[in-house]
Amino acid sequence: MKITVLGYYGGYPDKGIGTSGYLIQSGNYNLLLDCGSGVLLELEKVLNPLQLDAVLLSHYHSDHIADVGVLQHYWQLAPGQKKEVVLPIYGHNKDEENFKKLDWFDCTKGYQYNPDETLKLGPLHITFKLTKHPVVAYAMRIYDENSKKTLVYTADTRYFDELISFCKDADMLITDTNFYNDKEGTKWHMTSDETGYLAKKANVKKVLISHLPQYGSLDDLLKQTKDAAGDSVDILLPKVRQEILLNN
Ligand SMILES: [Zn+2]
Ligand SMILES: [Zn+2]
Repeated sequence: MKITVLGYYGGYPDKGIGTSGYLIQSGNYNLLLDCGSGVLLELEKVLNPLQLDAVLLSHYHSDHIADVGVLQHYWQLAPGQKKEVVLPIYGHNKDEENFKKLDWFDCTKGYQYNPDETLKLGPLHITFKLTKHPVVAYAMRIYDENSKKTLVYTADTRYFDELISFCKDADMLITDTNFYNDKEGTKWHMTSDETGYLAKKANVKKVLISHLPQYGSLDDLLKQTKDAAGDSVDILLPKVRQEILLNN
């Protein structure tokens, strides 16, 4: 399994870098996981977008879906051979208005995932966990039958204990670490401390802290996360178009 980071800021793009989007590849299968602002531009640098097999969305906040519309235009207008004539976009239907927008003429079609069942997309087996967020959002546990590796993506969520079992023993964890450890008041995302604690308790091997804040020092965010996680976990700050390989 290869993971390519296409954007990693929370809320809005900054310094030329977009919001959430990850290209997940296994064998010749190409999945776009979330499709935030700036993601299509970065995707074009690493893969002809027409070679996508599917798009999978955690929730309908703009920083996760801002580029869905332009991707639909891409499918409609861009020249070239499409891998899928109609691009499937998987999302939940707990927000009917946004779910309906996944259909775009005969170019893209929305498919509802059932969070209580495993969704199989090519070699990827995906299970879901409802997160704690102001809108319905799902964390995803993605098992790749080619590499036998497991990626967990928390999507957007505040910390809650059930995340530990959902992330248990993952080879790689991508977390919503939007806050430094001094964040006070209501939190709809995790702090550096909470990500570190989750990683340690869940015994994950590697963590990419993502959905990052635009302020402060990201090196501090990394250090705080590492301090909370301890030495057994490898914690990484994302870079745009960074590739992470999980192989057996
Ligand atoms: Zn977000
Ligand atoms: Zn959100």
